[in-house]
Amino acid sequence: LMHLTKKLIEIRSMLLSIDQSDALKLPSIVVIGSQSSGKSSVLEAVVGHEFLPKGNNMVTRRPIELTLIHTPAKNGQHPVEYGEFPGLGMGKITNFADIQRTLTDLNLAVPASECVSNDPIDLRIYSPNVPDLTLIDLPGYVQISSLDQPETLKEKIAGLCEKYIREPNIILAVCAADVDLANSPALRASRKVDPLGLRTIGVVTKMDLVPPEQGASILGGNRYPLHLGYVGVVAKKNPSDTTAVVVRAAENDYFHQHRDTFGSTSQLMVGTDTLRRRLMEVLESSMASSLHGITNAVQLELEEATYQFKVQYNDRRITAESYVAETMDMLKHRFKESTQQFRRPIIRGKLKEMLDDKVMDVLEQLYWLDKKAAELSQMGSNAKLKPEDVDPYWKHKLEAASSLLTKSGVGRDSTLLVADGLRALIDSIALGEPFNHHPRAAERLIEFSHNILRDRIGVTSDQVENCIKPYKYDVEVEPREWEQGRQQAIDLFEKEVEACQMKLKEITKKVGGGRRLNALMGYVKKLEEEQRTAKSAAPAAGDEGDVKTESNEITPESYRYPPAQIVDARYAVMYSDRLSILKLRLAALKSPRCRAGPQSEVFCPEAFLNVVADKLAYTSSMFINIELLDQFFYQFPREIDSRLLYDLDRKEIIAFARENPIVRRHLDLQERKEKLEEVMKQLNSLSTLRSDPQPQPRRQ
Ligand code: GDP
Repeated sequence: LMHLTKKLIEIRSMLLSIDQSDALKLPSIVVIGSQSSGKSSVLEAVVGHEFLPKGNNMVTRRPIELTLIHTPAKNGQHPVEYGEFPGLGMGKITNFADIQRTLTDLNLAVPASECVSNDPIDLRIYSPNVPDLTLIDLPGYVQISSLDQPETLKEKIAGLCEKYIREPNIILAVCAADVDLANSPALRASRKVDPLGLRTIGVVTKMDLVPPEQGASILGGNRYPLHLGYVGVVAKKNPSDTTAVVVRAAENDYFHQHRDTFGSTSQLMVGTDTLRRRLMEVLESSMASSLHGITNAVQLELEEATYQFKVQYNDRRITAESYVAETMDMLKHRFKESTQQFRRPIIRGKLKEMLDDKVMDVLEQLYWLDKKAAELSQMGSNAKLKPEDVDPYWKHKLEAASSLLTKSGVGRDSTLLVADGLRALIDSIALGEPFNHHPRAAERLIEFSHNILRDRIGVTSDQVENCIKPYKYDVEVEPREWEQGRQQAIDLFEKEVEACQMKLKEITKKVGGGRRLNALMGYVKKLEEEQRTAKSAAPAAGDEGDVKTESNEITPESYRYPPAQIVDARYAVMYSDRLSILKLRLAALKSPRCRAGPQSEVFCPEAFLNVVADKLAYTSSMFINIELLDQFFYQFPREIDSRLLYDLDRKEIIAFARENPIVRRHLDLQERKEKLEEVMKQLNSLSTLRSDPQPQPRRQ
């Protein structure tokens, strides 16, 4: 039968790890008693070591699930005694003072505001000197509430005890012999849940503090009969020497001295050894009688779990490792797919777009705002005018424009444009499934990607800048390139024309029609004209006062136009000015002069700059490809392996997988099913162990 209890204790802790539901519980012995009743002394006497937290006001604040595992001597050698906290991963602790310290720390970790915690501490003790037992030590009942032990503490402890003394547990009610049993909170609580006293054992401590006859009468149990009886103990500690052996000797002495009262004929149970034996018997028989019920319950749970696993997951097994590996593969795969967006022609197109904007800026700055711009168009349409006869002013202008474009920080801007694209790609991967469940991994992913980028940006932009340097001095244009540049400039201008027209339409609608806008624009132009003449007249006339009155004069018109509309009109003037220049230039670009070829560059700066922009885009994309993209695409998958994957130990892999709720549910159910299967296997092996050998079927 010994073997059975041991096995069942194992099964019990497996069941506890499956879930805390009452249906799957094998009995344990729950120790209750009021503070100072001698509860700790009894437990320590059973274990044979001092290991429970001590000290003033040091109550047990968390339940201790104490599992005692008897380790038999092998070849006459006594195995080493040790304790273990399975939940803490501290390994074997052979020094019981360390166990005591750990328990004290765990208790102190419960915030004073909470008083007690429901979260049990799992402690296992392996020793040749302990029986196979499971005991649950609970906070002692508080008798009097004091200032630092408020009323709520009393209630909390009572509530906690109530939870544990439910069936099928056995109640070990600790009472001190020198306190009237009627006042024992332990017995009172036990009677509430076990009125017939069928699963309560009484332990009467401090037997040495009452006359032996009185002690014997208590143990007789006539007043409060308990089916499992009372055991009397003396667990007094000698403050100067509290080794278990000394304590045991004092107890033996006491009962020996009073053997007339407590002798073998009296049928009374006394002494720690008797208590241990009694506890083993009671637990054994209680577990044995629970066996049938628990087997059925586990069978039911297992069937349910098996069914759910089939229905929900089609029996597909996963592991945390496989999930992590799949996630990383998926990440690499997604990344690889996305790199299609970074193929060279695409990058080149993007860079060209950016440079087109720069070209427009340069044109606006150098040509459109130039009052002589119209002159250029006229010269272009004059077929007799040869390029070499053009005013050097325009040649300088073209050189300035080209140099403004090539010196506008193309290296840095184009590198950053591509780097930003990569960053956006990584960010979107980090924010999406499944990394939305793994915020820390996502953070790392972003961090190392940014690091790679940061390392490459400087080198790349310098390299690009170096390689476009020749264009700062001289740009050779082939006829084919010219034609392409001219066409692209036309496209660009047509788009710009459309954009201006749209803007003008919007403003027209906003101010209430074309006529209204014309009137407004007329007014704005007039104002500007006045300001111009005033400005040029003022210094000459030297009569500031006069100017002021004129410009501030309130005219009937200024009444008619609200300020917001005047702002709109100013924009309209700007757009329509631009529109007329664009149209002029479009005509020029389409003229025979421009079509003639690169020799017309002075007349058609737009086509020329477009060719330059194209060359810049081509060169930049080439070096960005080599210095940034190739490097990034090479390093990224390797960083995934070294920063996300190889760093993880087994515990972290599990934690990572469980961050994903879908995976967590899958793993939970799978684990539950497997544990139930294991428990079922063990339970079945027990029943064959217990069942009598089957008679062999007789052969006929
Ligand atoms: P707990 O608060 O219920 O855990 O009680 P303790 O085990 O700490 O015991 C309270 C006090 O009673 C301590 O000073 C013990 O030394 C003392 N004590 C415990 N058992 C006995 C006993 O059998 N006889 C005597 N005389 N004192 C005891």
